[in-house]
Amino acid sequence: MSKIMIFIDGTWLYSNSARLCDSYGDPDFRIDFGKLPHVLASEVSRHLGPNEVDVIRTYLFGSYAANYDLRDEDSVNRRRDFFDMLREEYHYEVETYPINYMGRRVRKMDRDPRDPFEPKEKCVDISLATAVLYYAAIPNAYDIAVVVVGDRDFIPMLQNVRRLGKRVAIASIKNSCAPEFADPSDESRVKDYDLIWLDDLLHRLELKYERHQEKCDSPFHHGNPYVWTTFKPRKGQKFYCDDCKQIFMKQKRDAQQEMGDNPEEELNSEEQLLSEDQESNGNVLIEMKMTGYVKKLFPAKGYGFIAADNGNDYFFHLTDLVNLEFERLFEGMEVDFEIKNQPSNGKQGSAQNVHPHFESTE
Ligand SMILES: [Zn+2]
Repeated sequence: MSKIMIFIDGTWLYSNSARLCDSYGDPDFRIDFGKLPHVLASEVSRHLGPNEVDVIRTYLFGSYAANYDLRDEDSVNRRRDFFDMLREEYHYEVETYPINYMGRRVRKMDRDPRDPFEPKEKCVDISLATAVLYYAAIPNAYDIAVVVVGDRDFIPMLQNVRRLGKRVAIASIKNSCAPEFADPSDESRVKDYDLIWLDDLLHRLELKYERHQEKCDSPFHHGNPYVWTTFKPRKGQKFYCDDCKQIFMKQKRDAQQEMGDNPEEELNSEEQLLSEDQESNGNVLIEMKMTGYVKKLFPAKGYGFIAADNGNDYFFHLTDLVNLEFERLFEGMEVDFEIKNQPSNGKQGSAQNVHPHFESTE
């Protein structure tokens, strides 16, 4: 029996998903992350003869947007949900790191072309390299490391994993793979098996959705709450139908206008420079856990404000609630939350992951 650990560069895989769609000839192609570890293990076991393989653990390393323009909220939440799904449904070990967008749009094409801002991903590849080496140095943790990568930065790490006596299999994507990994004569001495091309395994990796009926949890839903969907809510996750999501978008836009926030407004250049200085010093203040109370509630509009212990007010929408029904909120209720956006340039901050206040027993 050979023990396998799988280490996935999630950022690289995510940014190459369009390439996989092209290879498969289907723009809606998605990888089934439940199947991925087993498909990779079966590819490795083909080289091992009758020796069986056991997938001990699957790691995925990635990043998520923090402090971003709220118009990108849906796509940012989808990514966070994806990481949660990997943890809850498939028991991946997921390590993620925030990218501070300084209040800007997440996609470059949505930002002002004159804006020199470049989002900086921190820690992801170092964190992957460290994990592979760490377990290689621990006796009996794994026999074979399967790395899902394309970046040549990993060459020294892979060489050292092999010096520690562990075997390495590389899975990659054609045209997104360092030539050193693909080299059949393996001059760089980075692998023990033929390269595994994900491109050749897509028919086995495809995520197949099944249409089913799901109950919409929105308090603003009209008519029969059971609607057809391919979306599968995770345990405890709320489901909202497309109509209600439209209503939510409008509610959030209305709220932004009411708060006097003009999203097209140019950033104050001095403040912008200042915040970039802070970035280079590594003083990134994000995803802070906060406590406060519900200061103002707009039941008909689906949102409200939290007065936080730090003296600032934070906007929240009913979709930001966790383990809390919007209908059961009341003004003065104590809540814990995370900061989604810091207040800046006179704009109000916003909250996410709002849940009932947890009284510490200490
Ligand atoms: Zn609905």
